[in-house]
Amino acid sequence: MRQITGRALSMILALTLMLSAGLAVPVMAGDDTQSGKQPDAAEILQPEGSGQSQQSDEEKTQQPAEIKTKTGKTKALTPAQKEAQEIKEYGKYKGKNAKKIPVITYHNVVTDRQKRSERYRYDSIVISKSDFENQMRWLKKNGYRTISCEELYLWHKGRIKLPKKSVLITLDDGRFGVPKNAYPILKKYDLKATCFVIGSYTMNNKPEYMKYREMKKIQNDYPNLEFQSHTWKLHYRFSLDKGVYSKVLKDAKKQKAKYGFEYLAYPYGRNNDQMIKAYKKAGIKMAFAYRQYGDGYATRDQNIYRIKRIKVQGNGSMYQFRSIFRY
Ligand SMILES: [Zn+2]
Repeated sequence: MRQITGRALSMILALTLMLSAGLAVPVMAGDDTQSGKQPDAAEILQPEGSGQSQQSDEEKTQQPAEIKTKTGKTKALTPAQKEAQEIKEYGKYKGKNAKKIPVITYHNVVTDRQKRSERYRYDSIVISKSDFENQMRWLKKNGYRTISCEELYLWHKGRIKLPKKSVLITLDDGRFGVPKNAYPILKKYDLKATCFVIGSYTMNNKPEYMKYREMKKIQNDYPNLEFQSHTWKLHYRFSLDKGVYSKVLKDAKKQKAKYGFEYLAYPYGRNNDQMIKAYKKAGIKMAFAYRQYGDGYATRDQNIYRIKRIKVQGNGSMYQFRSIFRY
């Protein structure tokens, strides 16, 4: 209950801020959205830029948030106050601090029948619903604390402590199995997780991917499953050399304007110093790499823009899954 309240509060904060600034601008005008296909998209309360274009996105994130008090007055929250509130919310644990934390990565979660099909059988980034549920039940039963990106961020910065039994569950790409299969299971066991979405895909009616309205529904119904960035539309193996800074910055600003995300997972884990510079500039606070094999735990001495993650093998056994937590 405590977790939900904190998350709900930050959503209210963001909403109040946007409403008070009169920013109920629909995003249908986006250059790659299909107008008319997504009526729910009009509910997005993020500005398309016009009124605020004299400001950088970075400056926008530094604006004080506002919250309505019980008496109906609005109270401004500076970023420092907002963080103090988050520390109060997440920093109740006073025991021994975790030295490393597994950030586990899934992609798609499909029905058992789909998993048996030719299409998904050998695909190691696709896990069956019952395997996923077994793993989630195991985490719950064994007393793991599932955390948000914000909690990992505050831990990395040394502002809160986290127990050794902490885990950040992530799901990349925003595939159809997130709303259909992962979300009800996470909700059933009251677990937190983060889904990194490719922003433009939520607007484009791609059959393999989650729709905007599905994402919105989860945000309203179960904020413990949160959404963060997997780029706006840079989910391919582009050149990391010349021009990467401006390419990434442009994309990151677009994602920020549409969704306001603060955390990012690099597609395929590919990153370099120029990209990190661009994401910092665009207001991303922490970013995740991706390792297919080997030791991939997050530690506090890692570069905060290169936090390691561990892939959960879609065809792996329960024994393999549990071994991630033996350290
Ligand atoms: Zn991806």
